[in-house]
Amino acid sequence: MKRLLVLAAASVALFAQAQTYPGTKPITLVVPFAAGGPTDLVARQLGEAMRKTLPGSNFVVENVNGAGGTIGATKVAKAAPDGHTLLVWHIGMAATAGLYRKLQYKPLEDFEYLGMINDVPMTLIGKPQLPANTYRDFENYIRANGGALNIAHAGLGSASHLCGLMWQSAVNAKEAMTTIPFNGTAPAMTALMGGQVDLMCDQTTNTTQQIEAGRVKAFAVTTAGRLNNHKLLKDYPSLQEMGLKGFNLTVWHGMYAPKGTPPAVLKQLNEAMKAALKDPEFLKRQEALGAVVVTDKRVDPEGHKAFVTAEIAKLKPAIEAAGKFAD
Ligand code: ASP
Repeated sequence: MKRLLVLAAASVALFAQAQTYPGTKPITLVVPFAAGGPTDLVARQLGEAMRKTLPGSNFVVENVNGAGGTIGATKVAKAAPDGHTLLVWHIGMAATAGLYRKLQYKPLEDFEYLGMINDVPMTLIGKPQLPANTYRDFENYIRANGGALNIAHAGLGSASHLCGLMWQSAVNAKEAMTTIPFNGTAPAMTALMGGQVDLMCDQTTNTTQQIEAGRVKAFAVTTAGRLNNHKLLKDYPSLQEMGLKGFNLTVWHGMYAPKGTPPAVLKQLNEAMKAALKDPEFLKRQEALGAVVVTDKRVDPEGHKAFVTAEIAKLKPAIEAAGKFAD
């Protein structure tokens, strides 16, 4: 009898929470990289759009940098499951599963999957002083000078790290470049524009404006084909087109809550997220930066989780093959 009363009280509390969620407390979107970078930008734009349909909500972004995104992810995995601490992360959710021997959380067990936001191609870019203007010249230059050059990334298991490893492996470079880790690709971009690092591979959401302004040189996109629908990026070849067979890397971003978040709260969040993905303002801003907002079944928790499960399996061999370039 006592147990029944406790259970009844618990469900009343959950119901009340769902009724009042989000209440007056803000919803913190944890971004596991520095402010001003591509993951940060997705989170901020999404928060603004979700606010329109989640009554009373107030989103704040907290940048919890370090270890390729795994420190921020750990924070969310261990946070109170009340819908007030969420994670916005990218392909690193799957890549770090293959790159780290020990994670403080289980990617498929310690989170509620809320849905995927977008797919974002990457671009291979270099500092403005590099003596190459086409991909072919760039590759020849790297083959001859790779050992003396450095490549920026956002930490072990980040998208930029993964792309750099896979690319060096695909061009069959003899000597590995020195990798320079940053807390995110916003500070890495500043170093690249200033000529302190030589190259980087990063989401178009961070690179498009800098390419357009001529602050960095772009050489190729990482998707299987060209980005024919993008007014600026359509002019750059894909790595496959340049002979790197099978090279196809797209960064995706998704949203996660700590395991145990009440189903009613998850439903409210997923509905607000799906409304945001149809918001004309959000769509316009994403499209301008080369991002493709998700419209398929990955916008729902099951589709999102099934996709990440498949990505973990798909990325493992690629990461192992590229491993000789990791330091
Ligand atoms: N673009 C980053 C990466 O390489 C991270 C960031 O969003 O700053 O993973």
